[in-house]
Amino acid sequence: MIEKRDFYINGQWVAPSKAHDFEVIDPSTEEACAVISLGDQADTDAAVAAAKTALPGWMATPVEDRIAMVEKLIEVYNSRSEDMAQAMSVEMGAPIDMARSQQVGAGSYHLQNFIRAAKAYKFDAPLGDHAPNDRIIHEAVGVAALITPWNWPMNQVTLKVGAAAIAGCTMVLKPSEQSPLNAMVFAEMMDEAGFPAGVFNLVNGDGVGVGSQLTAHPDVDMVSFTGSTRAGIAISKSAAETLKKVHLELGGKGANVIFDDADDKAVKRGVLHMMNNTGQSCNAPSRMLVQKGIYDQAVATAAEVADKVTVGPASQEGRHIGPVVNELQWNKIQDLIQKGIDEGAKLVAGGTGRPDGLNKGFYVKPTVFADVNNQMVVAREEIFGPVLSIIPFETEEEAIEIANDTPYGLTNYVQTQDGARANRMARALRSGMVEMNGKSRSAGAPFGGMKQSGNGREGGSWGIEDFLEVKAVGGWATE
Ligand code: NAD
Repeated sequence: MIEKRDFYINGQWVAPSKAHDFEVIDPSTEEACAVISLGDQADTDAAVAAAKTALPGWMATPVEDRIAMVEKLIEVYNSRSEDMAQAMSVEMGAPIDMARSQQVGAGSYHLQNFIRAAKAYKFDAPLGDHAPNDRIIHEAVGVAALITPWNWPMNQVTLKVGAAAIAGCTMVLKPSEQSPLNAMVFAEMMDEAGFPAGVFNLVNGDGVGVGSQLTAHPDVDMVSFTGSTRAGIAISKSAAETLKKVHLELGGKGANVIFDDADDKAVKRGVLHMMNNTGQSCNAPSRMLVQKGIYDQAVATAAEVADKVTVGPASQEGRHIGPVVNELQWNKIQDLIQKGIDEGAKLVAGGTGRPDGLNKGFYVKPTVFADVNNQMVVAREEIFGPVLSIIPFETEEEAIEIANDTPYGLTNYVQTQDGARANRMARALRSGMVEMNGKSRSAGAPFGGMKQSGNGREGGSWGIEDFLEVKAVGGWATE
């Protein structure tokens, strides 16, 4: 059993102010794999104080030097990639090969993109030719609280830490208590990379404890949060008392609109995308909208593809999907699958219960519902499991209406060979991101949502900007 009770505060691993053990459960076995501590107000205060003390020095450090530190961090990150993959795999159930490639890979990818974006970014520039004595200065927001979830841990930690560090913010990271081990490996990497004491701090804890203490803390200037819409609302309310800047990356219920003229891999691609990471992605294409002309064939293909998706333990190598993160999520997903059946959606693959041969572990059957209408619970709620809902449509207008009829607005997907139609769809869909024909967005593109999927953008220059204030100076001496 791994024992990691300490927190990383002011450049040191320190014992919690009060003993409060918490077991981290391996979702593949349902056994405890580690014990950590949940922090208390005194731990939160110590971490925030360290970040506050370190702020002036870090803000005054030239941005080139901050970028160089992040470059060093990437070196360390790459040298310890196997430790990181193992940590994520055991605590949140990502199959080890997937953890090595996608989960670990996301971290180095974002850090690299920040470096490229930062080198091109004008942190300090004249207002314009018409105003030579006006200076626009972008400077750090201040002390940032970074609160992250368990589903893509390094993706989310690096999107926040990389941007905050380059912007000149100091920070306190509170990773999900469900998957804290990767963040502790990351804290070791920050230490090895040589970030000055207090720039980066880590306190473990839950939402009602350290999470709420950070969002209410008077010395925290900004909260950057990724997780559920429920927690996003609670955080916004808590942060309102001290008028903090709040950046939210929340849930999604993405539509994948497949027109009659889509390429012949579109349905298969959509199902596999949905099942990736066992469906635990905020940008999962969980509503597949299929045009009538290819509907029956698409349903048959989707069922066939889902039936072939294998499920197994995270420690096993290969291309299977792992368990979902914990018992709570497993139960929630089972209830939602049952709800789909009760509401009359047609179950064409999977269903409730564990897959055959898996009696222990939070495993879910890859599940596909056909003949879903957009008012059913399975079409409205973020399931966060390997469950796809297929919805028929006839016209482009109808597809847009269904796709936009959701409280969320994170990512939508379009499959068509007609470029003009693809572009029309891109403009009509109310979401922060739209992806066509299986092509992802390119390096440095902003990630974020509209409506109840949140605000702000992560990644690239937009991600750095979210950690910056804009200062307008008049009377700047040019000599
Ligand atoms: P959650 O939102 O409760 O937890 C995410 C993080 O927020 C954790 O670090 C948690 O400790 C913290 N937190 C929770 N409540 C808080 C509060 N009031 N103040 C401050 N911090 C708080 O998510 P969950 O319970 O782990 O998952 C539930 C659902 O959330 C999932 O089923 C899924 O729909 C959604 N989710 C979305 C994402 C995403 O990437 N958008 C990620 C994880 C979960």
